[in-house]
Amino acid sequence: MDGEGSFTTHVRKSRNERKVRVSACQAQEWPLLKLRSLFGGYIMSVSARSLSPLTKKPLWRWELNGKYAAALSMTLYTLLSPRRQDQVKKLLAAWCASGRKPKTHCPQGHAFDALNTYLYLGKYRMCKQCRREKVIVIRRAA
Ligand SMILES: [Zn+2]
Repeated sequence: MDGEGSFTTHVRKSRNERKVRVSACQAQEWPLLKLRSLFGGYIMSVSARSLSPLTKKPLWRWELNGKYAAALSMTLYTLLSPRRQDQVKKLLAAWCASGRKPKTHCPQGHAFDALNTYLYLGKYRMCKQCRREKVIVIRRAA
């Protein structure tokens, strides 16, 4: 990326998993079309209130999400500055640590085992002990 283009990798936290996103902003659309043809992802025009301060032209934004973004970050890693490399390393470590392997314990540290786990809406694992404790707290408060 050159000129006023920016290349960023960030991890967005949603529910229990983190999502990796790589994005690039450019005043011209064609470098982003090239990125899209190389790596996939999608292109959008950035709204008028964030016009480029230099050219006063609309900016184009390319985004790539999920495992493709993680793969691209690793590919570009060697080209990045040491400061950026450090950032990417941390983000990818965070991404690997969560989301991919199922958690073995609830946030309060109770084991998610067969006895202590139930499925909420058939999808989300919940800790029975936490639920019990919550019910007790509610009863006490009442
Ligand atoms: Zn728990």
